[in-house]
Amino acid sequence: MWFRRDLRLADNPALLDACESGPDGVLALFVLDPALWEPAGVSRRWYLSRSLAALDASLRRRGGALAVVHGDPVREVVRAARAVDASRVHVAADYGPYGHGRDLAVERALAADGMELVRTGSPYAVAPGRVRTRSGAPYQVFTPFSRAWAEHGWRAPVDPPEAARWLSLPHTAAAPEPRLPDGLQLPEAGEESALRRWRSYLDADLVDYDAERDRPDLDSTSHMSVHLKWGEIHPRTMLADLAARPGTGPSAYRRELAFREFYADVLFHRPDSARGYLRPQLAALEYDEPGDRLRAWQEGRTGFPLVDAGMRQLRARGWMHNRVRMVVASFLVKDLHIEWQHGARHFMRWLVDGDLASNMHGWQWVAGSGTDPAPYVRVFNPVVQGRRYDPDGTYVRRWVSELAGLEGRCLHEPWTCPEGVPDGYPDPVVDHRSERAEALARYERVSG
Ligand SMILES: Cc1cc2nc3c(=O)[nH]c(=O)nc-3n(C[C@H](O)[C@H](O)[C@H](O)COP(=O)(O)OP(=O)(O)OC[C@H]3O[C@@H](n4cnc5c(N)ncnc54)[C@H](O)[C@@H]3O)c2cc1C
Repeated sequence: MWFRRDLRLADNPALLDACESGPDGVLALFVLDPALWEPAGVSRRWYLSRSLAALDASLRRRGGALAVVHGDPVREVVRAARAVDASRVHVAADYGPYGHGRDLAVERALAADGMELVRTGSPYAVAPGRVRTRSGAPYQVFTPFSRAWAEHGWRAPVDPPEAARWLSLPHTAAAPEPRLPDGLQLPEAGEESALRRWRSYLDADLVDYDAERDRPDLDSTSHMSVHLKWGEIHPRTMLADLAARPGTGPSAYRRELAFREFYADVLFHRPDSARGYLRPQLAALEYDEPGDRLRAWQEGRTGFPLVDAGMRQLRARGWMHNRVRMVVASFLVKDLHIEWQHGARHFMRWLVDGDLASNMHGWQWVAGSGTDPAPYVRVFNPVVQGRRYDPDGTYVRRWVSELAGLEGRCLHEPWTCPEGVPDGYPDPVVDHRSERAEALARYERVSG
């Protein structure tokens, strides 16, 4: 069983398949692939090494262990499979651009040695590519996709394997655990943590999800993205729990899970959109050179409190609230006129839940080149967004220490405070109103 983005034992159809069809024994394998490890930022490396340790501990409780090897999967998977005399290698299918190509290469290399790659399940409730319009085309817009996705449905979760004879490799090495920079705190990794968080979320905050999900000050979203990213829980497990609960909270939550599946579907059909424009005509949009302004944005020193709070939360927690992700992304693209890929790369460097499909399409949605059907008119005003979604300024005060003592209406636009901008906090890098007009003018020029 070759684990990748499915670091769990429960509701893991590929693992179940491996155990049921391999009575002579199963090797639990993870390949630390330099092509994925090298570009990952410190947050994801740290988290992955912890998650692998948690999976190893779960396997040890069942008499097994996780074999971790370093290197190119095409070579390492074949070598490990040969070492245990395997006839099959079981995986959950990967639909991302890199993973899909890698799996084809591994499949060919295994076949050359008389072995088979068996794909069972995927990291999604409905595998990318399955949900299509009546004419067989992929969906371009979220709402009709989500309707068809719900109609398509998914299987019930499966139990963890009851018993297996676990095999081992003579030489394996743990994943290196990088040192976290001062001030960066990340969540506890592993399947048990994922299930614990999910159960406590179901009991405590889910009921208010619909009403509160846009409020970063209340911090009442589930923080499940990191567990989903690494497959420490399968979305089907979550969907089954949601189905058992009536109300607007569970249905709103299901809609967000559908977003994750939609973006994976879009990326599957358009693998080029991982780097390039989903709407090619937007590639002609005029951007400014990134420079000091990009650095100010990255460091949370733009002088716009909600933007700065979000960017500092990202560096301190490897995570940012969804509403704030949209606001900071809009600010980079539409107020600073910096091309979205610069922001997307910075997010991937720091996010512990960094996921190619959700990140690139989250960015393209905001930049107007993605799946948003009304892309041009949407320019977030960071002051208005702050007042609406962080009405008492609790979120800003939590993350921007220079503003911790500030109260009242000027908190979201400190340049209007009677005593002036507090010491140490920057003046705004731009005038939002004029940059909004500039952004709209540039969009007009390419929209025809
Ligand atoms: C510019 C930008 C970049 C983003 N980058 C990522 C990323 O790299 N990885 C990532 O997982 N999400 C990304 N998102 C989506 C979203 O912000 C996060 O999934 C969410 O904030 C995670 O917190 P949570 O688990 O508490 O979410 P909850 O509100 O509790 O949502 C539950 C789950 O639904 C899914 N979900 C929620 N909103 C979205 C969304 N807009 N798009 C896709 N899935 C969603 C996630 O899996 C999430 O865990 C991005 C959004 C934007 C606007």
